[in-house]
Amino acid sequence: MSDTSFPDATGRFGPFGGRYAPETLMAALAELEAAFRQAWADPVFVSEYHRWLREFVGRPSPLYEAVGLSEALGIRILLKREDLNHTGAHKINNTVGQGLLAKRMGKPRIIAETGAGQHGVASATAAAALDLECAVYMGAKDMERQGLNVVRMQLLGTEVIPVTSGAGTLKDAVSEAMRDWVGSVASTHYVIGSVVGPHPFPLMVREFQKIIGEELSEQLGDVKPDVIVACVGGGSNAMGIFYPFLDSDIDLVGVEAAGKGIETGKHGASLGHGTPGVLHGARTYMLQDDQGQVHEAHSISAGLDYPGVGPEHAYFQDAGLARYESVTDREAVEAFHLLSRIEGIIPALETAHAIAWLQREAPALAGKTVVVNLSGRGDKDVQEVVGLSSDPGL
Ligand SMILES: *Cc1c(COP(=O)(O)O)cnc(C)c1O
Repeated sequence: MSDTSFPDATGRFGPFGGRYAPETLMAALAELEAAFRQAWADPVFVSEYHRWLREFVGRPSPLYEAVGLSEALGIRILLKREDLNHTGAHKINNTVGQGLLAKRMGKPRIIAETGAGQHGVASATAAAALDLECAVYMGAKDMERQGLNVVRMQLLGTEVIPVTSGAGTLKDAVSEAMRDWVGSVASTHYVIGSVVGPHPFPLMVREFQKIIGEELSEQLGDVKPDVIVACVGGGSNAMGIFYPFLDSDIDLVGVEAAGKGIETGKHGASLGHGTPGVLHGARTYMLQDDQGQVHEAHSISAGLDYPGVGPEHAYFQDAGLARYESVTDREAVEAFHLLSRIEGIIPALETAHAIAWLQREAPALAGKTVVVNLSGRGDKDVQEVVGLSSDPGL
């Protein structure tokens, strides 16, 4: 499974995936697919990509034995430290890869959409380093909430474009970025931030993120974990760590956001509690009402606050290749505190969902070995979490 033969030629993972896009973008997506496949088969491109991962991103990320947490939970816990990457999360693995691809395609400009700003910052960072022009679409409301990330992108030389249409959040920013791309595709590459979107994005982002699992495989040596767990928003960090282990008998567990509780309807658990439909160019599990209207997601962590999920995860779920669980905002915040205090590692709130699942399942996992993908650091979330202690809503 570690080659790129899946998805099939039409970009499908079983009944999921595909390419649902405006006619004007179909040629660009075909061109992108051809360019990616050619680059990925070219040892010069691949070694250039690996050089950037090593010298700019700081890879390989360590595999860290979390002794304190292991003792507290009665499980042997190893942390794959994606939080130690440049810019503090796994997203940079993908933006550097797509940035290099844009250059190879002769496109001097990249665009991206961003919710809380993490993918925007990772895109802006890659653009600055690779000498690409960059514009990031961001909901006006999100810009207000995430002022620091806006300033960060601007410092990096990126133009942040406020989106006031709709609710002024991520979904609207995606639409605006798409509109830009339709008009600028000859000079511009659209950097999608997770394993979502029309073919070839889910394939391409998986290939750029699978370095996480490949390194892990080497770092484990003779150690055979029973479980690998990762949080799932769009699903890129989970895909990156799962993919090289698909043929193993390791239990692969993705953790979605149960938000304020599944029963309240305010959650982001597209796999566990969504239905199949087409969102942002691909067929996948998504949150929608009876009329097929997209249902707004909710999570305390911006990275998991998305009403869809990568189509390959949809396939994994139906094929029984991985399983998907969910934890609430409250459980995630508790795990955020636990890891900070016990390990000296402040995790991103997204990542805290994976830790929270471990905490809840600890009795069933007693004596087992578990690898957690520590997708990002939590500096960005400190203010929010501290503000919560007095929030009666949590
Ligand atoms: C964006 C983000 C996520 C969620 O995105 P995936 O594509 O599901 O990985 C998870 N963790 C962190 C730290 C993030 O920044």
